[in-house]
Amino acid sequence: MRAAGCEEAALEARILLMEAAGIDATALAIAPEAGLGAEAADRLSDWIVRRLAHEPVWRILGSREFWGLPFALSPATLVPRPDTESLVELALAQAGRLRPDPLILDLGTGTGCILVALLHELRRAQGIGTDLSSEAAAMARCNAETNGVGGRCAFLVAHWCAPLAGSFDLIVSNPPYIPAAEIAGLAPEVRDHDPRRALDGGAQGLDPYNEIFFSARRLLAPGGLVVVEFGIGQGEAVAAMAGEHGLSPLAQAKDIGGIVRAAAFAFPPPGQDRSVQAMRD
Ligand code: GLN
Repeated sequence: MRAAGCEEAALEARILLMEAAGIDATALAIAPEAGLGAEAADRLSDWIVRRLAHEPVWRILGSREFWGLPFALSPATLVPRPDTESLVELALAQAGRLRPDPLILDLGTGTGCILVALLHELRRAQGIGTDLSSEAAAMARCNAETNGVGGRCAFLVAHWCAPLAGSFDLIVSNPPYIPAAEIAGLAPEVRDHDPRRALDGGAQGLDPYNEIFFSARRLLAPGGLVVVEFGIGQGEAVAAMAGEHGLSPLAQAKDIGGIVRAAAFAFPPPGQDRSVQAMRD
């Protein structure tokens, strides 16, 4: 696996081995020399062949942990990334500004990982997740059930928030933000296995933010927050787009690699928007 370019070959080999054998890390540590058995050995060699062909370990196993919770994957969903946990952390850090039973909207929900993690932490919150893919929306529903928050959320098949009305306290999204021309150069694990629809953010990778910020004007409750993830180096452009829609920056969060990865925005309270400020100045 290392020779085939797997960055975390030893860790991934261990994960595949434990899954194939149906044992946990403790069992592996206690009896590393234990025999595998023909069935488990066959399963493991099938999986290794798939991994050598650049299928990510998470796709092979069909699930990935996010925020300490298990999320089942489908070909229609992005694999949840640890980087996206920084969006969840940022939203939670800012949630003190919201009422104790906030209504959350997650645009382009995929596996549902962001919404489910937030509902898991904010026990009185409720939420709606939307996705263009019915397969993704069904997967998100399933993940919400598995993680015990199914009673507090609904998933809709929709282009962003087109069919929605109402008033949300927190709008979150990890939209597709890869510039279209860069997709061909991505690692095969991402390019060939994550759905293109979940990656391709148009020419600059910024198209979805216009949709999100434009809709916030219509759907955000007074005092509500918008928290979005973006790609490396896109923070300033995203903040500028938010500003064009009247949103002010509140806070940013870095991912585990130290890269600014998510930002929170809000509309200024009435009477303090920029035009009024400019007149006072
Ligand atoms: N963070 C993902 C990647 O770089 C992209 C996900 C997205 O476009 N939202 O692989």
